[in-house]
Amino acid sequence: MAGFSSRWRSRVAVMGLAVWAAALVALVPSVAQAHHMDWWVHDHSSAGVPPRPSGLSALVADFGPHCSVAANGARSYWPVQSSRTQPGYVYVNTYIGRDVGYNIRNHISADHADGAVDYGVYGYDCRYISGTTTWSAHAFGAAVDTNSARNPQGQGRWNGIGADGIDHGTYIPSVWKGDYPGHHFYWGLNFSNPDPMHFQYVTNY
Ligand SMILES: [Zn+2]
Ligand SMILES: [Zn+2]
Repeated sequence: MAGFSSRWRSRVAVMGLAVWAAALVALVPSVAQAHHMDWWVHDHSSAGVPPRPSGLSALVADFGPHCSVAANGARSYWPVQSSRTQPGYVYVNTYIGRDVGYNIRNHISADHADGAVDYGVYGYDCRYISGTTTWSAHAFGAAVDTNSARNPQGQGRWNGIGADGIDHGTYIPSVWKGDYPGHHFYWGLNFSNPDPMHFQYVTNY
């Protein structure tokens, strides 16, 4: 009788351990996910996703003149920037600082998708559109180029291979462009001379 009850007790103990182990397996990943960027939510208010201007005069009204202090007044830190092993800051206009630095950058991080970004990633640049004397959207801090090495100007499609070597499809463009889950940038792939790396916060310019 004593033998039976001690075997029974040990069987219950083993079953109890198994239940605990299963509970831990179920619990640990959800705890890890809950802690990863638990604080972050999209800001789709007009501060997070402000109105997007159309044309030069509306661009200047919202962003200020080209090559101004505001044009490179906001920055965000990207996992690959000037090379595949080099993280760095990307500068944009304060007008879209929250959309880029808070919405887009955190969206990619919260998705565990930093590996989908590839170099180069470039924002503000006080320059003309190449081959013209028209100021580039980059001169207003209103444009960002991303994954530029694999998405040169003139290439009529998006190459989604990230710095991690995995093809992420159009994940990165979907975060930048259009309405939710995008963040309202206009995609240069749609220019008559396609520029797949290029996302700008102005239309008709
Ligand atoms: Zn969002
Ligand atoms: Zn560009």
